[in-house]
Amino acid sequence: MKQFSKITEVREQRLNWCLQQKSVALVPTMGSIHDGHLSLIERAQKMADKIIVSIFVNPTQFESGSDYKIYPRTIEQDMQRLKRFEPDIVFIPSVDEMYPTGFKLDIEITAPALDNIFCGAYRPGHFVGVTTIISKLFNIVQPNIAVFGKKDYQQLLVIKKLVADLFFPIEIIGVDTIRESGGLALSSRNIHLNKSQRNIANNLYRTLLNISEAIRMGRRNYRKLEADALEYLQKKGFNTEYMSVRNAQDLGEPADSDLIILAAAWLGKTRLIDNIQVRR
Ligand code: AMP
Repeated sequence: MKQFSKITEVREQRLNWCLQQKSVALVPTMGSIHDGHLSLIERAQKMADKIIVSIFVNPTQFESGSDYKIYPRTIEQDMQRLKRFEPDIVFIPSVDEMYPTGFKLDIEITAPALDNIFCGAYRPGHFVGVTTIISKLFNIVQPNIAVFGKKDYQQLLVIKKLVADLFFPIEIIGVDTIRESGGLALSSRNIHLNKSQRNIANNLYRTLLNISEAIRMGRRNYRKLEADALEYLQKKGFNTEYMSVRNAQDLGEPADSDLIILAAAWLGKTRLIDNIQVRR
C-alpha cells in the first residue's frame, strides 16, 4: 500500500500498470474511512487488478460557510483501516495539488436536470464541485472502473451522466449502502452525532422502509406518503429537507416500477441523507 500525494507519482504508476496490461479501479473518498468505504474497495478488488483509493476533502463541493472546516480528517486512522484491504495506492493530494490556480472554477460541468434538485437545491454548487473533482481524478488516474456508493444516489447518477455524455471510457459501479445495526447509513459525518441523536437517526431509514413497504403493498399516493413521513420525522426531532418518491433512472416523476425514495434531514448540525430503492 503506497501513499502518494503528487499527481506525477500516480501518473507514473498508472503508466507502468498500463504497460503491464493491468486494469485499474478508482475509489474516490473524502476519508474518515468506514466500512461503507471498505465495501467499495472490496468490490473494486473483485473487478480490477489494481486499486487506487483517493482521500481528498474537496472544498469546491462544500457551500461557503458549511461544514468544510469541521469535516473529519483522520489520515492516520484511515491508513490503519485501509490495511484490511490493502489497496495498491492511497492518493492523498493537497488542495494546492488539485486546485493549483485556486478554487474559482473557470470551467464548470453541469448536469442541469440533476444538479438543481434535491441535494443540489439545498446545496447550490455542490454537484459542480463533484463533477469537477471527479473529472480531475479520472484524468489523473485514468481508471478502467470507478466505484461509488448508492448512499449518495443522486451523486451516482450525476457521475454516470458525466461519464456517458463526455465519453470517459470508465465503467461506473454502484455499491449498496452499508448500515449500522439500527439502520443508520454509515457516514463520516455521523461522528458529530451524540448518543441520543444516533438513536433518533435510525428513524430515517425506518421511515424509508415504511414507505417502501406501503408502496409494495399497493399504495400509490406518493405525495401523501412523503408528507406523512416528513411530519413524523419532524416530530422525532429532525429538521427535514426532503423525502421524495422518484423514478430511479433519472429522479423524474415516479413511474410504475423501479422507484427510489430519497431523503435528507438534519439532526442538530449534522446533515443525513439516505435512500431506498423499490422494485415492483
Ligand atoms: P465520502 O467519503 O462520504 O465522499 O464517500 C466516498 C464514497 O463512499 C462515495 O461513493 C459514497 O457514496 C460511498 N459511501 C459513503 N457512505 C457509504 C455507505 N454507508 N455505504 C456504502 N458506500 C458509502
